[in-house]
Amino acid sequence: MKTLSLIILFFATIACKETQTVYLCDSEGGKKYHYTTSCRGLSNCQHKIIKVTLEKAKSQGKTLCGWEK
Ligand SMILES: [Zn+2]
Repeated sequence: MKTLSLIILFFATIACKETQTVYLCDSEGGKKYHYTTSCRGLSNCQHKIIKVTLEKAKSQGKTLCGWEK
């Protein structure tokens, strides 16, 4: 029973990574994505903060914000 729950946890973790969501500042010059809305890079955002999947952010040419790590 314990093994089964470990296996479920394992696959749940993988699924979570594939659908990881990130945050973008919806400005024209915005080229960064952020892991949290409380990021310093987003605090300067004068536009709407939008939530997208990591995959979509990358497909739009976004790169990880310099404040993250
Ligand atoms: Zn950031």
